[in-house]
Amino acid sequence: MAASTRTLRARSDPALVDAVEVAREAAVSVGGEGQVGEHEGHRAEGERVVSHLFASRRPGYRGWQWSVTLTRASRQKTATVDEVVLLPGPDAIVAPVWLPWAERVRPADVGPGDLVPTDDDDPRLVPGWLTGDPATEPLIDDTAVRQVADEVGLARPQVLSLEGRDAAAERWYDSDHGPAAPIAATAPGRCIGCGFLVRMAGPLGLLFGVCANGNVADDGNVVSLDHGCGGHSDVRLPSNRLPEKLPEPVIDTVSYEPLGWD
Ligand code: SF4
Repeated sequence: MAASTRTLRARSDPALVDAVEVAREAAVSVGGEGQVGEHEGHRAEGERVVSHLFASRRPGYRGWQWSVTLTRASRQKTATVDEVVLLPGPDAIVAPVWLPWAERVRPADVGPGDLVPTDDDDPRLVPGWLTGDPATEPLIDDTAVRQVADEVGLARPQVLSLEGRDAAAERWYDSDHGPAAPIAATAPGRCIGCGFLVRMAGPLGLLFGVCANGNVADDGNVVSLDHGCGGHSDVRLPSNRLPEKLPEPVIDTVSYEPLGWD
């Protein structure tokens, strides 16, 4: 590819822009012979500071660029080298952006013995003695109520918040157990009319239930009421496809057949 010079910023210093060979020599001295490719442009970094970019020929660094930063003293024409570094270019293969552990772990990563801690301020949870929508209703932090609940063993330290409930509903509805699942598109009926659906209590029960049909893949899963599958309780084989009824077996008690043993 022919060498090209791209000005990425205005006010490039002309003497430094022309010092491509100085920059190349610096890149070769660091990277080694055969590791520095064609000149891919320059970038003005500041007053009398310019970085020249060269394609990397280093194995494993395809798309990366040698960046050589040049500068010169005031009223001098001689370019001097500030630094030589290998940087990822627009087409470089680089590692994905680092994510904290808690955001990286997916449900399928959790195995036996693994712990998935929740933050103290996890928005999906609220203290168990709160009721109602904290945003719109007064919070009930009634110590007496809490004590009674604790004594009779009803209290959980934390319960699902509205945000946690809405997120779960959205996740379930958009999953393979919701109305958009391919299996639901061809189902003969919806879960809401199926005898295998176990209804759920609470607000989530308005949209979801649990499938209890052991013959289908949804068994034991939360399904939306408008989901469906071929195991719907109304499904019957048409009479012309029922297995043919076999005659009663007849036991012959008069004759016998040799079984072929010696
Ligand atoms: S058997 Fe099928 S239609 Fe019936 S509840 Fe389960 S998923 Fe829904």
